Amino acid sequence: MIDLHTHTNISDGTDTPAQLINKALASGINVLALTDHDSIAGWNEATLHLRPGLDLVLGAEISCQTEDGMSVHMLGLLFDSAHQELQEVLAQTRENRHGRMEKIIGRMNSAGIEISMEEVLLQLSEGATLGRPHLADAMVAKGLAKSRDEIFEKWLHNSSPYYVAHYSPTPERAIALIKAAGGVAVIAHPMASLRGRTVSVESFASYVAAGMDGIEVSHRDHTMDQKILLTKIAEDLGVLRTGSSDYHGNGKLNELGENTTEADQWAALEAKATARRVVRAS
Ligand code: AMP
Ligand code: ZN
Ligand code: FE
Ligand code: FE
Repeated sequence: MIDLHTHTNISDGTDTPAQLINKALASGINVLALTDHDSIAGWNEATLHLRPGLDLVLGAEISCQTEDGMSVHMLGLLFDSAHQELQEVLAQTRENRHGRMEKIIGRMNSAGIEISMEEVLLQLSEGATLGRPHLADAMVAKGLAKSRDEIFEKWLHNSSPYYVAHYSPTPERAIALIKAAGGVAVIAHPMASLRGRTVSVESFASYVAAGMDGIEVSHRDHTMDQKILLTKIAEDLGVLRTGSSDYHGNGKLNELGENTTEADQWAALEAKATARRVVRAS
């Protein structure tokens, strides 16, 4: 089984990279991409715990924003981790997430919801990418709700009055950076409408023109109709299809391998990277 989109506590997942490797092996996964939000900081730990039977793929889920302010997630896979400009953009995004969190908290405080930056940072592993899920965890810890999901539904969804965006590259720029670093770009859950506005059917062509290689079709946040439509879009535009779990440990219901990528699609995707960068235990 090939699972190309997973998170650890290097961003808003709850497993360590080592735990993720163990769980992936136990779940029968043989190709796993590590795609924390805006960070590859989990990569070294993951490679240290790699065992035979698992191919490990370097990746990141890059937070992007369109010119008109819509949030888009772009998966970068198999890129050169030493590419400086890509790493600089990721670092800038991570830094900006702190100021953005202060603003979200400020808005909540003004509305009478008591929560502080200190409480949120307690939920974050050292050096991890800060996100709304950490704020949700802090609010759960305070007894404001039972789960991340409940907090997101009530207070933290993209159209909530407390929502603040953070710096992020446009999807086209993220794609260009991933390609410049020799990797492949796959748009993540492009029709997951629960999260807010989603990209128009026309914008896929613009992303493909910028170099995008694939579309994440099989994802739990897509309906069957959306999967059919996305399959057709991928076919029309001549790009590859992936499927993945978007695993977050205990942070979400998503189970490892609940959606997977077909072997031929993965082989074609891997062949588009400028070097063979899959890592396996010898
Ligand atoms: P941020 O990157 O800070 O904008 O937060 C976005 C993250 O929140 C994404 O990684 C999602 O996985 C997570 N998220 C979005 N909606 C929900 C939800 N309803 N329940 C739990 N996590 C969510
Ligand atoms: Zn996440
Ligand atoms: Fe995402
Ligand atoms: Fe994700």
